Amino acid sequence: MKDVIVIGAGIIGSTITYELSKTDSKVLVLEKREKPGLDVTGHNSAVVHSGIDPVEGTLKAKYNLLGTRMYEEYAKELETPYKKIGAFLIATTDADHEIFEHLVNNAKERDVFVERLSREEALKREPNLPDNTFEVLSMPTTAVVDPTHVAQQAIKKAAENGVEVHLNEEVTAIHVHDGYFDVVTNKGTYQARKVVNAGGLYAPHIEAMVSEPTFELTYIRGDYITLGKEARNMSDGALYPAPTNMGKGVLVIPQVDDSVLIGPTAFTVTTLDEPVVQDADIEIIKEKIKMVARHIPYEHQTGTMSGIRPKEVNDDFVIGESPHVKGFYNVAGTDSPGIASAPAIAQDFVHNILLK
Ligand SMILES: Cc1cc2nc3c(=O)[nH]c(=O)nc-3n(C[C@H](O)[C@H](O)[C@H](O)COP(=O)(O)OP(=O)(O)OC[C@H]3O[C@@H](n4cnc5c(N)ncnc54)[C@H](O)[C@@H]3O)c2cc1C
Repeated sequence: MKDVIVIGAGIIGSTITYELSKTDSKVLVLEKREKPGLDVTGHNSAVVHSGIDPVEGTLKAKYNLLGTRMYEEYAKELETPYKKIGAFLIATTDADHEIFEHLVNNAKERDVFVERLSREEALKREPNLPDNTFEVLSMPTTAVVDPTHVAQQAIKKAAENGVEVHLNEEVTAIHVHDGYFDVVTNKGTYQARKVVNAGGLYAPHIEAMVSEPTFELTYIRGDYITLGKEARNMSDGALYPAPTNMGKGVLVIPQVDDSVLIGPTAFTVTTLDEPVVQDADIEIIKEKIKMVARHIPYEHQTGTMSGIRPKEVNDDFVIGESPHVKGFYNVAGTDSPGIASAPAIAQDFVHNILLK
């Protein structure tokens, strides 16, 4: 009998498993793919956001801020790359002024260093800004990581600490008993006192194995153009448009390996099939990116990429014990800033919720 079974080894399940491996709990992690971090965790912008834009009072705001503060040390602990590249948030319309006021206010209240730059100051630092730039918010604490590597290192170190790791093993049913669970997979049945659902896009399917739904996800697909290292000198750091209700918009994001992502788009989808990026999606990216950069060196394009965000309908993370099934925990609704928040979610969830 295990103390805890973690279902899913994306960045959320992996960092939770790693945190659990520091305790004396007997833990098993079950992942249906051949390696950790290949699903949503392998298809995103990889940004450790500064934490100034999630809505005050949400779990997203709490964990983004805590996670961002922890990441540099955490990455050293996991022996995974972390690069503080900084980001410029670019105002190009009058309406952006109000958004800037709000974000600067959040930054002050959350004790995050940001700098408001005039057009002239910003252009001196970043010559590739669009012609209609009239103001820039510099966010120097913004960083990037390799989320798949974070997940893989977390699982590797958890295994070294004694956690049992089963890859290529899909959970197909869960039977609830008094004080324990039978977790059934394509390879066997395992018993545990507690179960953690970190199934990402499939978290609702896993919850449905034990109860009626307690949260609802919508699925928002994001497409990218990928550029090689030769494109890295097109900007110093990440370039963002002013955010809207639809999200952070289409960005320029240098990666830890010096490749560059241009994207993502945001379309609601109803199927979780492997997305295929269409020419029309590429055109949308090319049009929208003009809001943040004058020139994109498309001659260095290496391909395209696509990911699906598991967004909860109330736009916040779902973290805690099921109200219906004692001992069953959901860590779901993990769209952005799930990468930035992962170390903080893992620490708080394990010590203050799961093992409390
Ligand atoms: C386009 C896009 C851009 C993003 N940009 C950012 C960003 O810049 N910064 C940021 O902080 N966040 C970002 N995010 C969000 C971030 O990617 C997610 O929050 C994070 O990857 C979610 O991790 P997860 O572990 O919850 O999910 P996943 O990585 O999907 O992990 C879930 C795991 O569960 C496994 N699984 C599912 N069902 C079963 C089963 N039945 N049995 C066994 N295993 C199972 C899956 O195989 C998978 O490995 C972005 C997301 C997208 C899509």
